[in-house]
Amino acid sequence: MDFQLTEEQIAFRKSVEKFARKEIEPLTTEAERNSEFSFEAWKKMADFGMMGLPFPEQYGGSEAGVLTTCLGMEALGRAGVDAGTTMAWGASQILCGIPIWLLGTDEQKEKYLPKMITGEWIGCMGLTEPGAGSDAASMKTTAVKKGDKYIMNGSKMFITNAPIAHHCVVMAVTDKEAGHFGISAFIVETDFPGFSTGKDLDKMGNRASVTSELIFEDCEIPEENLLGQLGFGFIGVGKTILEWERSCLIAAGVGGMQYAVEICTKYALERHQFGKPIAHFQAIKHKIADMKVWSQAARLLLYRVAWMKDNDQPAMVEACMNKLMCSELGMRLCEEAVQIHGGYGYMKEYPVERGFRDAKLGTIGAGTSEVQRMIISKAIMNLKRGGKKK
Ligand SMILES: Cc1cc2nc3c(=O)[nH]c(=O)nc-3n(C[C@H](O)[C@H](O)[C@H](O)COP(=O)(O)OP(=O)(O)OC[C@H]3O[C@@H](n4cnc5c(N)ncnc54)[C@H](O)[C@@H]3O)c2cc1C
Repeated sequence: MDFQLTEEQIAFRKSVEKFARKEIEPLTTEAERNSEFSFEAWKKMADFGMMGLPFPEQYGGSEAGVLTTCLGMEALGRAGVDAGTTMAWGASQILCGIPIWLLGTDEQKEKYLPKMITGEWIGCMGLTEPGAGSDAASMKTTAVKKGDKYIMNGSKMFITNAPIAHHCVVMAVTDKEAGHFGISAFIVETDFPGFSTGKDLDKMGNRASVTSELIFEDCEIPEENLLGQLGFGFIGVGKTILEWERSCLIAAGVGGMQYAVEICTKYALERHQFGKPIAHFQAIKHKIADMKVWSQAARLLLYRVAWMKDNDQPAMVEACMNKLMCSELGMRLCEEAVQIHGGYGYMKEYPVERGFRDAKLGTIGAGTSEVQRMIISKAIMNLKRGGKKK
């Protein structure tokens, strides 16, 4: 077993962190305060190469691999870049870009990937519906073949990047009788007739990302925009997305945990009560020790699942464990970070306040903690849907 990153990986992580501290964090911190998405930060991240990390060179990417991609995102979080901005990156590059790369036709890859990598086009992904969240397969959105087009009707809820996206990967029912095999995926451009978005949703955290509903009213989709095989939108495209999402998207959060440990350590050494730095009190020391251990445990789970994916091993259950543990430890850690800051931690001026609000989404998005536990326990106990042992 080798726990050592390569020299190139260490240098890459450092260079991203340095770049992000100087160029990105000030822009995104300001954007988060104003509940806006920063196009300027997006462009700078693209120019630095962040958008192309996992993708092939032929489309302008750098073929960095899963672990190195995660290291890049971890470095953004460690530099203090807010979770909304890194989630926008994930929604575009991972949830939308990865399925196009792995399951798309040559024409689809050539059309969409280069402009996503230069940052010109932003993507999004629509699986969740107003009435179908954890049970996403019970979706109601339909796509019916008519001539050389599919006609889509329905809506998708809580879609990250929806108001700024050029295109979305959308799942819809194409055969009502075929259950999980009756769902297909499509690339829907946001200027296709019949497409619109709902109002911008006002969120607790991740406020530098924009979120809204996707609405399809007889939306016309050319047949060549079917993504992957007909009927494999849930089993194929959806699973590919969710495995990547539960592996990689939490990487920035894991970096954010390290950032919180650093700022809490600094604060505890500087803040005096009872005539000495609060760092001298055992209660505070123990909090910081626990936070360090949690951030390290999260990091190891993340690196392991990324390594498994780089080595072409199936990793859905490990991805669920990674997502569950990193997000729950992240939430606990961010609560302690506020506590260490006392009343100041409750003030918007301090980054721990933002971290606390941002961290909560980790236990909800990409499948709630309850759903991760359901999948993990099913795998351990070898259970079928409905609870019976196989
Ligand atoms: C800010 C934000 C951004 C998002 N971005 C996207 C996006 O880009 N694309 C996208 O497709 N979706 C996105 N989502 C949706 C997200 O994935 C869903 O919110 C999530 O899957 C939960 O679905 P739900 O909100 O409908 O909750 P529900 O499924 O209604 O769950 C409600 C509660 O019931 C519990 N529950 C449900 N079923 C079970 C069960 N079988 N056993 C035990 N407990 C259960 C849940 O764990 C939860 O506690 C986003 C959500 C948010 C908040």
